[in-house]
Amino acid sequence: MKIDLEAEKKEILKRYRKLLRLAKKSINDLDKKQIRKAFDVALEAHKEMRRKSGEPYIYHPIAVAQIVAEEIGLGTVSIVSALLHDTVEDTEITLEDIDNMFGPKVCLIIDGLTKISGVIDHSDPNYSIQAENFRKMMLSLSDDVRVILVKLADRLHNMRTMEFMPRNKQLKISYETLFIYAPLAHRLGLNSIKTELENLAFQYTEEDLFNEITDKLKEGQKRLTRFINKFSLPIINKLTDKGFDFEIDGRHKSPYSIARKMKDKNVPFEEVYDIFAIRIILKSTPESEKGDCWNTYSIITDMYTPRPDRLRDWISTPKANGYEALHTTVMGPEGRWVEVQIRTQRMHEIGERGLAAHWKYKSTGDDHDSRVDEWIGKIRSLLDSPQNQAIDFIDDIKLNLFSDEIFVFTPAGELKNLPSGATALDFAYDIHSKIGDACIGAKVNHKLVPLNYKIRSGEQLEVLTSKKQRPKPEWLNIVTTAKAKNGIKNGIRRERKLIAKEGKSKYFKIVEALNENNPKLLDELVRHFDLSDAGEFFVRVAEKNIEKGAIKNYLAQREKHKKQAEEKVSTPRKSEITAKSFGKKDVLVLGEDKDQFDYKISPCCNPIPGDEVFGFVTVVDGIKIHKTNCPNAMHLQANFAYRTIKAVWEDKSKSSFLTGLRFTGTDDFGLVSKITNIISEVSELKIKSIKFDADHGVFEGRIMLYVQDTIQLTELSEKLKVVKGIHDIKRIHTN
Ligand code: MN
Repeated sequence: MKIDLEAEKKEILKRYRKLLRLAKKSINDLDKKQIRKAFDVALEAHKEMRRKSGEPYIYHPIAVAQIVAEEIGLGTVSIVSALLHDTVEDTEITLEDIDNMFGPKVCLIIDGLTKISGVIDHSDPNYSIQAENFRKMMLSLSDDVRVILVKLADRLHNMRTMEFMPRNKQLKISYETLFIYAPLAHRLGLNSIKTELENLAFQYTEEDLFNEITDKLKEGQKRLTRFINKFSLPIINKLTDKGFDFEIDGRHKSPYSIARKMKDKNVPFEEVYDIFAIRIILKSTPESEKGDCWNTYSIITDMYTPRPDRLRDWISTPKANGYEALHTTVMGPEGRWVEVQIRTQRMHEIGERGLAAHWKYKSTGDDHDSRVDEWIGKIRSLLDSPQNQAIDFIDDIKLNLFSDEIFVFTPAGELKNLPSGATALDFAYDIHSKIGDACIGAKVNHKLVPLNYKIRSGEQLEVLTSKKQRPKPEWLNIVTTAKAKNGIKNGIRRERKLIAKEGKSKYFKIVEALNENNPKLLDELVRHFDLSDAGEFFVRVAEKNIEKGAIKNYLAQREKHKKQAEEKVSTPRKSEITAKSFGKKDVLVLGEDKDQFDYKISPCCNPIPGDEVFGFVTVVDGIKIHKTNCPNAMHLQANFAYRTIKAVWEDKSKSSFLTGLRFTGTDDFGLVSKITNIISEVSELKIKSIKFDADHGVFEGRIMLYVQDTIQLTELSEKLKVVKGIHDIKRIHTN
């Protein structure tokens, strides 16, 4: 077949002009220019492309834009986005181009549309979970609900024109539609689109059942019309009498919902067939619409007996998706139940086209896009609001939880759901703990990112691993999921076990060489080195923190150590008591030497630990502490600079400083061990070095040690003073 390019060109322009006509209500001249520009860009970008049907590709974006304008009722931004929706994914055009030509709003929408083009395989056993995740991803990803609306229009047009697709694609797209897009349309109140999507998908997935139902519906059409007339006539008379302006029509459920009902209730077509609804659409004004609906209800229930349990008042409390109407079921002629839906023209449009129709009635402004923005804001709040628990929305409530979640893809296209704040490392552990343990980074959109990279919805991540990688304790700070945390802890534990095993054999070699192999020794050593268990001890041995020499030293003074350990257990150490009774974590240190002096907190600014402060030496009241930004501070520092003193808060639990004591005395047997015993009683002291020099009965000792404050040092020297043989103790001033 030869393609008539001239005729095609004409047809393209014809379709474009139809789009403009449809959009007309909501656009001005400037908008028109934007739409023309988008049309030109899309036409040029897709010019070599054809659809499966052989038609020019541009027919598709034009049709999507028409759906957006006509069936959803959106404005210029959405129409422009619809025209351009396939350009970034399928042509040379980049997001930057879109941004430059059409601005950030359109760019954001196209970006969103490109991201959610991911695919899910319906033969996957986890398909329904994946579909649910995908839906949630779309909602969380889209800062702009227009992304979803354009996507729905895109899907609707694809479903309408799927006959040239290969069978497997038809099936895949249909399942996706049923699981993802129809529920989304429902969620957004786009009922006519939802129904059409369902029926199209039904037609492809269960062709036989679809044909059976539609044939039977056609057969029964005459009978239905007769019944509806019989039912409606008295209503029409009465409503006309009362001066109502209205339309009335009767309809079956859609083939898809009939099929679902047949399956859910396991009943034949004939039983479902009998259920149908009469719709009464009233022309009314905003002030009287509620009254008009209830008056109509009253007229109908005067004629036909209602089932009291089937009254639904969606007017006083509209459904979360904006649906408003009165529903009732009454006993009609021939003993058949008939559902009657009463609504006004406004409610009807909202019911069919979603909340976009809302603004046609509500707003008087002529800026259509800002009205849509308002609507989008409303949808978002509807989606976010937890109290939208209208009865038949229970299945959708889950969607309200999406805001804390992130949805990302594996390289194979599998969707993963993680809490917000999750990192690349969380993602790696989510795939498998082995992947997490070996993770060295990830690739996001072909870019290398570190382990702590915070992932974002819509991204596709590829985890990079290395055989040499080992889980590390600091990883615990960069993950948020329990799965990752447990994975890391288990990994570390496994690693330590390996190291401990190595240390264990090393230890036994040492003790065998020393001829001291007995289980009691191991217990003693664990206690002596203040470790939690033997595993910990073996790790130290493997890492050479504890070596043969240390064990030998212990053995040399084994009896003494044992006695000490027993004492330690029986009486709480004094330093523990002091630490408890003081309980103050932050201490103030003063001067260049960071010494502790007595001070008072100045009441004028009342500094607390953590504040920037300085000390001021008063004449009668000692040192007073002010904040550096205290109103008095400037005056004091300017006039009495020589009386100010540097002051810093220090975390008592962390800080310790090196200091030393020098003492002299007469050499006495056992003096050295007496001294070390005393030092070990002050548990918070850490000894750096001890040195004793004896010369003809006179000795000099130097102890260098880390203390947390001068109180500790004073406490220690007080204790040492009473030791027999020590004559003089002096502090050694370091640095
Ligand atoms: Mn498309």
